[in-house]
Amino acid sequence: MKKIAVLTSGGDAPGMNAAVRAVVRTACENGLEVYGVIRGYNGLINGDFIKMDLRSVSDIINRGGTILYSARCKEFATEDGMRRAIRTCQEWGIEGVVVIGGDGSFRGARDLSERGIPCVGIPGTIDNDIACCDYTIGYDTCLNTIMELVDRIRDTTESHDRCSVIEVMGRHAGYLALNSGIACGATAILIPEVPFDIEKHVIERMKKTQRANKKHFIILAAEGVGVDVKALAAEIEAKTGVESRATVLGHTQRGGYPTAKDRIMATRMGNYAVKLLMQDIGNRVVACQKEEVLDYDIFEALNMQKSIDMNLYNVAHEVSI
Ligand code: ADP
Repeated sequence: MKKIAVLTSGGDAPGMNAAVRAVVRTACENGLEVYGVIRGYNGLINGDFIKMDLRSVSDIINRGGTILYSARCKEFATEDGMRRAIRTCQEWGIEGVVVIGGDGSFRGARDLSERGIPCVGIPGTIDNDIACCDYTIGYDTCLNTIMELVDRIRDTTESHDRCSVIEVMGRHAGYLALNSGIACGATAILIPEVPFDIEKHVIERMKKTQRANKKHFIILAAEGVGVDVKALAAEIEAKTGVESRATVLGHTQRGGYPTAKDRIMATRMGNYAVKLLMQDIGNRVVACQKEEVLDYDIFEALNMQKSIDMNLYNVAHEVSI
């Protein structure tokens, strides 16, 4: 393979730039021509390509977001959109594509591979919800950002003997809430994997810790639990008498400069992805398990199931008392 493309798709994640940089530099160093595709699969359909060289990716390893922009592209999931994307790749002579994104983006990569354009996926999502990986690019940065933001909220929560109910990202997965809850010493952690019961998971826990002289409380809720944190704060105040405030961290969690871990893993995975394409190997997902980089068949990867570590959930609650 001599000409490849790289795109970022779905929700952006800090560290995607480090992965793009590694893809471009590895390709250039090994004599491949490499194109950046703008706005994910939209760019692949419309031929929105930029020829990349060693210097096109200077000064991006430290930047959040993605210089290639990201998008959700409904058209790509249709037969017509897919046909147009393949035609564009053929016209430009693109022989393989590196797709940096989440599960949805990998489904697109699988469909493209099936139709003759070999793709390699790199897991880039803050949610850490890709089954074949125990870590995804952006997760570590996001976790640390949440920790810093909750620490700030904790200062004022403590000063006023309040309860803070904080919503963090995670529409389908509770990894961010669980691990940031541990890192921040949350009294209660609400995750989508555990059916929510306000009495059992919040009120009883708060009352127990109150009996042990605790006077301020952090309650962390993943957005996927589906609770309105403002309403939850009001209910907590009514039931416990503790003044309660709600905060939705929102998009502050997505940006910012990536942590060392995200930069290093993104660099290793970007390099690995190009090495696969150089051997004409496509239809793979690059994965990270126990700090090692490896790869899976995309079909296999998409069919794997990931479950939350309930031992960790129990540890969190045993310690935050
Ligand atoms: P993520 O990659 O973060 O999971 P999405 O689920 O939004 O984000 O998927 C990103 C893009 O991948 C979609 O906008 C679409 O273009 C493409 N995609 C998602 N699902 C499919 C599918 N089943 N078939 C083909 N393309 C898909």
